[in-house]
Amino acid sequence: MPWTPEQQVAIFDHFWLHRYSECPTDKCEETLRTTIVPAQGSNGYGTFKAECRKCGCGMSISRKDDPKAAAFREWTAEERLAVEETVRKGGPIYCPVDGTLIERRYDSLPGTFPRGPVTEVLCERCAQVYVRPRGTAAEQAAVDSSVDEGPAVRRKYISESAVNMLCSRPVLIQRHKMDDAKFLKIADEMPFHIYMICRRPRITFDPASITYGDKSISAQFIVHERTGPIYVPFTTGMDVEPEKRPIKCEYPYNEVRILDEKGDLIIGCHASYLLSQTAGDLHDYSQMKHLDLEVLYVGQAYGKEGERTAPNRLKNHETLLAIYAELAANAPEDEIWLAMLSFEPPITLMSLDGRQQHTAEVTGDADLAHLFNVLDTPVAERQRVCFAEAALIRHFQPKYNDKFKYNFPNPAHETYSQCYDLDLNAVAVELHFEELRLRLYSPTIPPQYNILVEFPLHSPELRQSIFDFAVKIPAKPAEPVKPKVADVKFEDVTQGDGKDLAKGEKVTK
Ligand SMILES: [Zn+2]
Ligand SMILES: [Zn+2]
Repeated sequence: MPWTPEQQVAIFDHFWLHRYSECPTDKCEETLRTTIVPAQGSNGYGTFKAECRKCGCGMSISRKDDPKAAAFREWTAEERLAVEETVRKGGPIYCPVDGTLIERRYDSLPGTFPRGPVTEVLCERCAQVYVRPRGTAAEQAAVDSSVDEGPAVRRKYISESAVNMLCSRPVLIQRHKMDDAKFLKIADEMPFHIYMICRRPRITFDPASITYGDKSISAQFIVHERTGPIYVPFTTGMDVEPEKRPIKCEYPYNEVRILDEKGDLIIGCHASYLLSQTAGDLHDYSQMKHLDLEVLYVGQAYGKEGERTAPNRLKNHETLLAIYAELAANAPEDEIWLAMLSFEPPITLMSLDGRQQHTAEVTGDADLAHLFNVLDTPVAERQRVCFAEAALIRHFQPKYNDKFKYNFPNPAHETYSQCYDLDLNAVAVELHFEELRLRLYSPTIPPQYNILVEFPLHSPELRQSIFDFAVKIPAKPAEPVKPKVADVKFEDVTQGDGKDLAKGEKVTK
């Protein structure tokens, strides 16, 4: 049944307020695929489209039919000042004209620190842009490293903390192998709550090229690129006496099998797996790049108590089916691989910077109370899975994701609100694909073996990030530096009695 006009308005309104919408059809519970077609020559949207991959419902609203279109106008000078104020304070910014959650744009900085100061904010609905004036003190200091007045932004706490989610052993699998007993056993031992749907050109053997002799095999892989086949020759050791054990490679040539006299399998090996394992035996090592995986979609399965996992979610997954269908039609030589991610117990990263004891906002006992509160109150697993998913989506901006693609982190999101309640400084996600010898990439991220995603939860103007190690060192003074002597006598130093550090007590400063 198609969506009613009221449901369509609700979808449209929810999208502008949260940047995603869910299907209103009964029992669908599906995040809609939303598309913004920009209006020509404008910063605003031209058409908004939403569709549900589960029930097939869809809708489209063009700018002129926007119920608020008549009210669109330029932001006033006062409204611009208020926007500037919110940028400085952090937190979500809503358009003063139409109430839309508006986007921030950042200067990109080199290195892993993901963003610089906010350069402008934009409402895609009414097409208003506010470009921040250049040269505010904090910005100038961040941009111009010759300013030597110490750190541009203050710490909030002496002891700042971040939660890091580490996946050191991702598992790569194809969908038709998910019922294998070996995989099911692994999936049982390490619950996979996050998955990534990835693609790369199919890799097969060139059956005519296989030759083997004394304990070695030579052949070439064929990488089925869209522009035509690429041949990757290799020679590697193989400890099976060749005269007794024929090496079989049958259509579609993606596996070699070695059988014994009775015809039983001794070794079977997938072409792409062998390519990753023979790395050093390739005639040209740079050909390892053909193993690179493009991340198309990041998703999670958790349920209420962690009872749902990625393998059962992927058995009946609309986006996955849509990707298979699209690739079958447009890129039949591509292969889909599913990266299953299971995370280790979370790591709390702490940074204690005594140099800022006179400049940090919260010091002394209140700072200690914050520290113990963070250590005593672990972020719930469900919330950790949620921020890890969102951070990976924001990082890769995968083609098939909508939610969180541009809007993370955001204090308006409830799914990881505990991180804000605890007043954490940042969250981080770490994926190690090096052991599998392959790299991940997306249109926005170049290929990398190990993915390190760090997101400060607060605006860089407001609070120094725990990952911002580049604290500026003051210029060398002309006179020798005299040691600093405290103005307060030792007896007069106030000391905490520990009573205010009761478990569970929150810092309200
Ligand atoms: Zn639906
Ligand atoms: Zn607006």
